[in-house]
Amino acid sequence: MSALTIDARDGAARAGRLRTAHGEVRTPAFMPVGTHATVKSLDPGEVRACGADIVLCNAYHLALRPGVDIIERAGGLHSFMGWDGPILTDSGGFQLVSLRNVATVDEDAATFVSPYDGARLRVTPEEAVRSQARLDSDIIMCLDQPVAWGTAASSAPATERTHRWAARCRAVHPGDGRLLFGICQGGFDAESRAASAAHIAALDFDGVAVGGLSVGEPLEVMEAMTAVSVAGLPADRPRYFMGLGTDSELLTMVGLGIDMFDCVAPTRLARTGTAMTPTGRMTLRRATYRDDLRPLVEGCSCPACTRFSRAYLRHLFAAGEILGHRLVSLHNITHLTALMAAAGEAIRAGRFDAFRAATDARLRGDAGDCEDAASLGGDATTGEMWAAGSAQIPGTLGPRG
Ligand SMILES: [Zn+2]
Repeated sequence: MSALTIDARDGAARAGRLRTAHGEVRTPAFMPVGTHATVKSLDPGEVRACGADIVLCNAYHLALRPGVDIIERAGGLHSFMGWDGPILTDSGGFQLVSLRNVATVDEDAATFVSPYDGARLRVTPEEAVRSQARLDSDIIMCLDQPVAWGTAASSAPATERTHRWAARCRAVHPGDGRLLFGICQGGFDAESRAASAAHIAALDFDGVAVGGLSVGEPLEVMEAMTAVSVAGLPADRPRYFMGLGTDSELLTMVGLGIDMFDCVAPTRLARTGTAMTPTGRMTLRRATYRDDLRPLVEGCSCPACTRFSRAYLRHLFAAGEILGHRLVSLHNITHLTALMAAAGEAIRAGRFDAFRAATDARLRGDAGDCEDAASLGGDATTGEMWAAGSAQIPGTLGPRG
């Protein structure tokens, strides 16, 4: 039986509820990223108040620091980080791409060199599943091997290894109420994508992620590869697109039948004073906001918008006060969870296409105030963000952290 109840469909888009051991997740869902067992600068209660049902943590980073043992002794991630809702843990597969200078792969395992102390961390597929279970993860991700955009080598060996690793992960599925998600790959070739989706679908996972996309490829390639992947996945299981966080791209993927998303963009943009708004990104450091006493976004329910003005937020960034980062993080996460909730409502009402068209028109009508489209603070595509963030420095990684 699928853990996902689909309440409504509109075209390929779906709205529903995903059951986990720590509560329900309304879908389509945006998952804030707490790579190091914290959504940067926010208390878990604040993350919940932003409308988030689930957070993502990274098992690879947590295995390095502080280590799985101490988290297990604390009673698992929920009690360790003070978040009692569902948690999805990423396996470390993406770090094979984002940290490729310090990661190697052989048939048996992935091996990483710790950026903290140089220690070697060897992760087999079985160990990846077991350590995520020890962390008390509600949704465990298989260990996979993605391929970066623009690499000359064929993606076939990595995809075939991903399939063998998926079977090994499946064989040690704890089956104790935790969900295990497979990840399909296939590079940037439609035939390989379709074959990978079919292969992973046949392993009967609780859900499947479309992996290896949003890594710098053009938008139309990302869309085409997602469509062909989704076509091969089980209709009743949750589908997760890894690492995507711009309004337009999220709605495109919801329209293709994706249910779950994650991205570091809301908190990363907040750090630079960039707010996500229905009309595009707003760079709060700009002088134009010095005298602007209007709320950041009229009608937004977050603390930044209900209690403070643009002028105050600009002042906080100008003065280097951390409250600015916190408030814009709260706003940006609220913006994306509200976008997903509105998409769900539109699907239930049978007007998703009109909702998506109106959202895109608003974004096009006023692209915000960004001046530098290629910078993180500008209206960068996720691919550009990934490229900008993939400088191989711990803490400044791509959309999947
Ligand atoms: Zn707000």
